[in-house]
Amino acid sequence: MTHYETAASDLPLSTLSVTERVFEGLAPRLEDVVIIDGIDGRKFTAGDVIDHVKRLAGGLRAAGHVPQKPIALMAPNSPEYCIIFHAVAWAGGTITTLNPTYTAHEIRHQLRDSGAGLLITDPATLAVAKEALEELPEVQLCVIGSADDCLSLSALYGPAQEQQCPVDLDRHSVVLPYSSGTTGLPKGVCLSHRNLSMNIDQTAQGAEFRAGETAAAFLPFFHIYGMTVMMNMHLACGGVLVTMPRFDLELFLRICQDHRARRMWIVPPVALALAKHPLVDAYDLSALEQVFSGAAPMGSALSDAVASRLNCAMLQGYGMTELAPVSHITPLSTPRSGASGLALPNTRCRIVSPETGEDLPPGEEGELWIKGPQVMIGYLNNETATRDTLTSDGWLKTGDVAIIDADGYMFIVDRLKELIKYKGFQVAPAELEACLVAHPQIQDAAVIGLPDEEAGEVPVAFVVCADPAPSPEEIQSYVGTQLSHYKQLHRVTFVEAIPKSPSGKILRRLLRNSLYSISSLH
Ligand code: AMP
Repeated sequence: MTHYETAASDLPLSTLSVTERVFEGLAPRLEDVVIIDGIDGRKFTAGDVIDHVKRLAGGLRAAGHVPQKPIALMAPNSPEYCIIFHAVAWAGGTITTLNPTYTAHEIRHQLRDSGAGLLITDPATLAVAKEALEELPEVQLCVIGSADDCLSLSALYGPAQEQQCPVDLDRHSVVLPYSSGTTGLPKGVCLSHRNLSMNIDQTAQGAEFRAGETAAAFLPFFHIYGMTVMMNMHLACGGVLVTMPRFDLELFLRICQDHRARRMWIVPPVALALAKHPLVDAYDLSALEQVFSGAAPMGSALSDAVASRLNCAMLQGYGMTELAPVSHITPLSTPRSGASGLALPNTRCRIVSPETGEDLPPGEEGELWIKGPQVMIGYLNNETATRDTLTSDGWLKTGDVAIIDADGYMFIVDRLKELIKYKGFQVAPAELEACLVAHPQIQDAAVIGLPDEEAGEVPVAFVVCADPAPSPEEIQSYVGTQLSHYKQLHRVTFVEAIPKSPSGKILRRLLRNSLYSISSLH
């Protein structure tokens, strides 16, 4: 069996909860500003953050919100996001994070599935949260700020909870982000304190943090990349966050310029803007040393274009929600264009043939399997999906096709799983298909990803319709009422039947090939 050992020396297993790990990075700088709201300029010192976390944790426990049920958090990035996340963790609770662009339909799925008892949201998303809760009256609503007709965050504060409430660092799920994994609907990914605190340590190894380095934090904190790499690792390693509620190129460049940022944390669509947009020339980015991209594939041409325009190193990382999230990073000292990186400390890899189940040697293409302290506990209440993804001896089957070369560099070359990545966001074909067949005139549907320069991939649908068939535009606007912006269909093709295997599995490869032949006719 070819097990690819990491060249990096293993780190000792962290014995800290994720919040203790972050507090460790805040304690030496209590008077220093560590989080700035990038919109209104509000500043929080490390001491403020710790104080808020402890008082909110105390209040959440006193009111019985934790540890009984998970707390759902649906908000754009802000200093409060970080405080709420760590207050729940410090109180021994579980937090499930929702995309703030979700529709009521999507919110309800996650609240029901996670069993959340309280939804904390932002004034900007209050209306859709209320709409979602009309069908879930048992879920309490709380707003960051104030509203006349619901609980405000400040009302949840109580006497400080001085110590981390004891939890099993390996078995307690501190966070449940949602991911479709290799197949099916979005599922709660059970991540432990150990997963999160180890992944901070593993990722920070070699990241060469400098005290006080500032990051323009637009990567959404609800997604595991923004959560671990931006929010938690930066605070744990002496960095400062300037929070951005969404990506805005001008604001991003201004923050990087004004704070003399030496590194940018981005996703491939932002790399495209950095390589091509004329605005970039209007800002002084001379302090920049590296740009780090993750969450979706980035080709070497784009990577090289960013590096040469910004005169900096362009690094890539690979990860997934189920890995808390990072397993590979290209090291600063030996970057390799197009590679997703070398395995982090404590991380073992295998490349397994999907056909024969055999381990493959360097240079051969197969499914990437990973083992390490960052591998999730499992999927929430879904033993079948857990068993399909995790082997009994702890290997996580990523669903990605990769090559590992003789020097240990990993290259993602394809995807076995159904997942579509739109600008780094997950789009689960099964979710779109379920939405489509719920339409009274749609009898069957299949969704695949079509390559797209800006977004990486865009979802397109094949549908079988009853008479009278709705128009493609009607189908697109129907989906628009159900699912958030990044799950919208970019094309609808009518077909007689959806190709399926004898066991009923959609033959997506056939659909993909048919699409290429359609495109080549245009
Ligand atoms: P998520 O759970 O949303 O982080 O999505 C994880 C998936 O994103 C992986 O399984 C890959 O398919 C894709 N992905 C993440 N990072 C990379 C990368 N550097 N190169 C290629 N694909 C990536």
